[in-house]
Amino acid sequence: MASLTSSPNVDVLVIGGGNAGFSAAVAAAEAGAHRVVLIEKAPVEWAGGNSYFTAGAFRTVHTGTQDLLPIVNNVDSETSKIIDMAPYTKEDFRKDIHRVCLGRSDPALAQALVDDSNDAVKWLAKKGIRFQLSFNRQAYKVNGRFKFWGGMSLMTENGGKGLIADHQASAQRHGVEVYYSTPAKRLTTSPSGVVTGVVVEYKGVDIIVNTNAVVLAAGGFEANPRMRSQYLGPNWDIARVCGTPYNTGEALEFAIRDVNAKQAGNWSGCHSTCWDANAPADSGDRAISNEFTKSGYPLGLMLNTNGVRFVDEGVDMRNYTYAKFGRAIHEQPEGVAFQVYDQRAIPWLRDEEYRDERVLKIWGATIEDLAQKLARNAGLNAPEQFVETVKEYNGAVYASQKENPQRKWDPAVKDGLSTQSSTKKLALAKSNWALPLDQGPFMAVKVCCGITFTFGGLAVNPDTTAVMTSSDREVVGLFCAGEMLGGLFYGNYPGGSGLTSGAVFGRRAGTAAAKVAANKPGENLSLAGTTYSARL
Ligand SMILES: Cc1cc2nc3c(=O)[nH]c(=O)nc-3n(C[C@H](O)[C@H](O)[C@H](O)COP(=O)(O)OP(=O)(O)OC[C@H]3O[C@@H](n4cnc5c(N)ncnc54)[C@H](O)[C@@H]3O)c2cc1C
Repeated sequence: MASLTSSPNVDVLVIGGGNAGFSAAVAAAEAGAHRVVLIEKAPVEWAGGNSYFTAGAFRTVHTGTQDLLPIVNNVDSETSKIIDMAPYTKEDFRKDIHRVCLGRSDPALAQALVDDSNDAVKWLAKKGIRFQLSFNRQAYKVNGRFKFWGGMSLMTENGGKGLIADHQASAQRHGVEVYYSTPAKRLTTSPSGVVTGVVVEYKGVDIIVNTNAVVLAAGGFEANPRMRSQYLGPNWDIARVCGTPYNTGEALEFAIRDVNAKQAGNWSGCHSTCWDANAPADSGDRAISNEFTKSGYPLGLMLNTNGVRFVDEGVDMRNYTYAKFGRAIHEQPEGVAFQVYDQRAIPWLRDEEYRDERVLKIWGATIEDLAQKLARNAGLNAPEQFVETVKEYNGAVYASQKENPQRKWDPAVKDGLSTQSSTKKLALAKSNWALPLDQGPFMAVKVCCGITFTFGGLAVNPDTTAVMTSSDREVVGLFCAGEMLGGLFYGNYPGGSGLTSGAVFGRRAGTAAAKVAANKPGENLSLAGTTYSARL
């Protein structure tokens, strides 16, 4: 049986066993690397990093249903006839990144992501990742047809759980050795700065694993309260962690320390969502996973504990706003808010997020009754203001409906049903899907900010993902992908881009690492498995 200390020498060592790491490892094996090893800090029970917790949503360029049907397993020929799915072009994807990241995304990285997205997803499908069309999350059935919206249509079967199971099987088929409970602690280099190995803790002992190339795919620092408050700002140490507790940022820190890796991207930014306020604080739950997300807000309102709205819930399709509204909640008093829905909206909420056994619901026969119950049991400080806000909102919606009777509610497009009209305007509009909240009984759920992943990372050469030094030279033998790669996302991101980024850049990283490995085979053979203390 293979062990980390056995020969032959490692060609490519991948650090981190999420979507980016597995993509890199399989790409390296496919590109001809002889011995590919993936080390993962978490025990096998926590396999898959944040990628395990995802809904498995992949954003990709496509030319329409016919382009995607060959790689999905949940569409029969009858269903295929009632799907409305507009093509999602390179220009659409590029513009979406540009728009939601406020023009700050590194253009070369964004272009690489866009250009390779379709090919990367099809490559994953060939590797055995099972894809489906995302009927439940990305389509509404309107007039008997499934209308896909938001530029995203693909998910993996059984979400992140299925994705990781498929990655593990694929890695095994490609001969990748995977070691759990094996954290990387530092990089070793030659006097000229070429990466020669990684110090890892293996079976309780620090050893040096010598290798010809290393791919960093160890996630961000979202599960590290110290780094969160250091980089994201005050109070971020108390945000709730949506995913793995093992993404604690040390690989970012040791790359900066050991090879002078250059930092890139939005170190004070993160992806954070509306999260169940009753979810655990310091990590996600492997069974419940992303079902703690509460993303129904375009169908209702969000009010803080002072009874005041604080975002335009309908400013854009949900998957262009959900990654930034967590931060908006975090900035409210006590870092919580209430999502409020009436009987018109409730049937449209996603069952996996809002079913009775998943979330604590607070009901009121009237808005006044709901406000009293929230004040008694859930921390609402200003019930009168809560009622006033809803009434003012309803008044604005009625005025807008009167002025624009031709506008029809449609959750699959930005329908223009808003709170704004010539007679009445709210200071904070709801720009789309603004129906009155007037059909009781009314339901509220309490939400908080869940941090999903951090945006700050390392600068890379977009073609190969070679890590750059702060003097803008490539570190020979070091590559980076996934959350660790900085510069793509700022403040927000188009939903489903994280997994696609891991696949696109993981694949590039693995391929480039295999090439480097092929050029220096066996260079460090004599050091394989040396204990770290013996080497000092
Ligand atoms: C609840 C939730 C839902 C999400 N849904 C989606 C979605 O549907 N679509 C989407 O695109 N994105 C989604 N995301 C974001 C997505 O999870 C990330 O963009 C993506 O998974 C990152 O992949 P990765 O491989 O870089 O990191 P990860 O999957 O987190 O893998 C990193 C791995 O590195 C390991 N590691 C850390 N430090 C070390 C070390 N020192 N040594 C060895 N190993 C180490 C960690 O244990 C972890 O397993 C979601 C995130 C969450 C939390």
